[in-house]
Amino acid sequence: MNKPLLPRNVQRIEKEERFRFSCHPSVGCFTDCCRQLELALTPYDVLRLKKGCGLRSQEFLDRYVIIEQEDHETLPRLYLTMVDDGRASCVFVGKSGCTQYQDRPGACRAYPMGRAAIRQADNSMDDFYVLLQEDHCHGFQERLQQDVATYSTEQGLPAYNRFNDAVAQILQHEQIRQGKRFSEQQQEQFILALYNLDQFRTLLLAGQLTGARPADETPADDESLLLYAIDWLQDRLFKD
Ligand code: SF4
Ligand code: SF4
Repeated sequence: MNKPLLPRNVQRIEKEERFRFSCHPSVGCFTDCCRQLELALTPYDVLRLKKGCGLRSQEFLDRYVIIEQEDHETLPRLYLTMVDDGRASCVFVGKSGCTQYQDRPGACRAYPMGRAAIRQADNSMDDFYVLLQEDHCHGFQERLQQDVATYSTEQGLPAYNRFNDAVAQILQHEQIRQGKRFSEQQQEQFILALYNLDQFRTLLLAGQLTGARPADETPADDESLLLYAIDWLQDRLFKD
């Protein structure tokens, strides 16, 4: 894999490499990283957050998500809402930290690390990690030593990686790399299957989805349903 060029405050870090970092409510910058950010949501982020909020997926999208599109023929991107409080704070940040801490997005868990996963020609995934050292983050002045593998596990990232890698089979599909354009119906199917899982289940059970399995084979739990939805969507986007 070619090594990508990285910005000045981002450095590549090996999985076994150690770095000093700790984040806790006593750091002077506590929750600074929850403001003035563009927080792109993955399908698994939304699955976890809507459950954590006790909402159905459509309600969660309506209340907390901004949908953006580069142009009318590309796949949409979904972002968590920031509030207009003069600091552009995340909608979930409170005085004591994240009000959805147990179900916070993967990017929040990984920070100050980042994981890049690249789809290979044989559909396997190759990944690498970076460390983002932003001036406002005091966590690097703490004594605690971390390493990528331990930090990832402690932050609950393996579950997020599993679903993100499955979605990457779509987002990094060869046809997209070659500039494929999508119809309005395909864009709606993208949001339905990946982000509006409760509605996807309702339509599946009603037998109203093109090319879907029989209603009585509908996966019961959201995690299995999302994996099925990813497969279904791949066919809708790249085979129809
Ligand atoms: S800026 Fe860094 S140390 Fe401060 S709260 Fe965020 S992650 Fe923790
Ligand atoms: S979801 Fe939670 S951890 Fe992530 S930016 Fe918002 S408040 Fe911070």
